[in-house]
Amino acid sequence: MKFISTRDTKGDTLVSSAFAIKQGLAPDGGLYVPEYIPTIDKDFVTSLLNLSYPEKAAKILSLYLDDFTSEELLDYANAAYTNGVFPPEVAPLASVDNKLSVLELWHGPTAAFKDFALCIMPHLLTASLKKLGETRTAMILVATSGDTGKAALEGYKDVKGIKIKVFYPVDGVSKVQKLQMITQSGSNVDVCAIKGNFDDAQTGVKKIFSNSQIAEKLNAKGYFLSSANSINWGRLAPQIVYYFAAYCELLSKNAITYGDKVDFCVPTGNFGNILAGYIAKKMGLPVGKLVCASNSNNILTDFLNTGVYDRNRQFHTTISPSMDILISSNLERLIYFAAGSGTVVNCMKSLADSGSYTIDKDLLKIISTDFCGYYANEANTTDTISYIYDTYNYLADPHTAVGLYCSNNYVNDTNSANHMVVLSTASPFKFAASVYKSLTKCIPPEGYEALTVLSELTGKPISTPLAGLDKRSVRFTRVCTPDEMAEDLFEHLED
Ligand SMILES: *Cc1c(COP(=O)(O)O)cnc(C)c1O
Repeated sequence: MKFISTRDTKGDTLVSSAFAIKQGLAPDGGLYVPEYIPTIDKDFVTSLLNLSYPEKAAKILSLYLDDFTSEELLDYANAAYTNGVFPPEVAPLASVDNKLSVLELWHGPTAAFKDFALCIMPHLLTASLKKLGETRTAMILVATSGDTGKAALEGYKDVKGIKIKVFYPVDGVSKVQKLQMITQSGSNVDVCAIKGNFDDAQTGVKKIFSNSQIAEKLNAKGYFLSSANSINWGRLAPQIVYYFAAYCELLSKNAITYGDKVDFCVPTGNFGNILAGYIAKKMGLPVGKLVCASNSNNILTDFLNTGVYDRNRQFHTTISPSMDILISSNLERLIYFAAGSGTVVNCMKSLADSGSYTIDKDLLKIISTDFCGYYANEANTTDTISYIYDTYNYLADPHTAVGLYCSNNYVNDTNSANHMVVLSTASPFKFAASVYKSLTKCIPPEGYEALTVLSELTGKPISTPLAGLDKRSVRFTRVCTPDEMAEDLFEHLED
């Protein structure tokens, strides 16, 4: 299986999976996609039923990553989703009522769904570098608004041949997210705060990536830059697995019989998670609708309803911050699969020139057979947290609550009789203050105490990776300006 750039109109950029993983972004600015989507049948799904999660992952990943043997992929999956770090089910499916389940993707080491990709990505990257004969150390640079930074640190810590450096906006992440990062263990990790917001951190990182002098200087010291964000195919592929796992789980529970369509509702930011669901559907998994759930930053809702993607709008800071995003990079991959590279090139040029693009009615119709868009504003989100808790004794984080609200609206609008699976992307304790406030209408204590009071109120245990966070020793306290980021990188290179 070869990979091609979404912006390649000539078909001459085919690369191997190892190369796509090492490179991240294609040289023409496009994203790597498989040259075709492999299809599966009933026997394939049935054969997954009695396999462990890592075995399922190896079997699905081997359809895409043929630079790696099945044994290698199984080794990586076993190491990534290991018992003790993840629970035995890895991605537990909680049933809320007989037509509604929640797929909990936050039982990994950092209590957010990004662990599913970032636990296995270091294994894939290390092996890719080896297969490509790369001897330099990969320096992973990350700008984060919270969840990616911690998940990447945890995934790459103490991995040989790799160093990781995370920049976060000093006042732009939650208290829990900050504590998670500044107490990070590992001999190859570094964390630095930026005076500025997420965009400043992101722009600073992009500047470092595009500076050839920095690249040369790093090369002379035996390093090259690499990225861990969700445009990398190596991050997308592992996310396909849990759609299959959820379908298998529903089959095992006799909640469905094979062939019954299952709808999935996905709290969406960069469109990576839901795109993995689309790929699962195109492979042949019986998926009905993919409900794209947004918060007040509802650019995707508008796009899916009207065909107009317009980022010229107000940016809202919400209680579901991991979805506060106006440019959903992975949407480019959907346009590629639905319309081809020519349309991608036109849309992306228009987006760069004017901040918006419009797809034609026929394309919108094609996309609408697989997707629909809904959004929840702040009041909808907090009301849903308290309603779901009062009605079902289910504790949802704000991102998951956005999904629950949107899935309910979708079912009411369409009378869909399919089983609905809402993807739960973060532990409620990761956003304890907002959850506590939604349930009690009272302001919780500052910092870590919010987790304790939420646990006392609900009788639910604080997620293991977050427990005792306030007692861990702080390792990283540096704050620099965006202009000092490159300097900081070199100063702490050999730490
Ligand atoms: C990253 C993230 C999302 C958004 O996922 P995308 O793949 O970017 O669409 C949603 N919820 C949480 C908690 C996240 O960390």
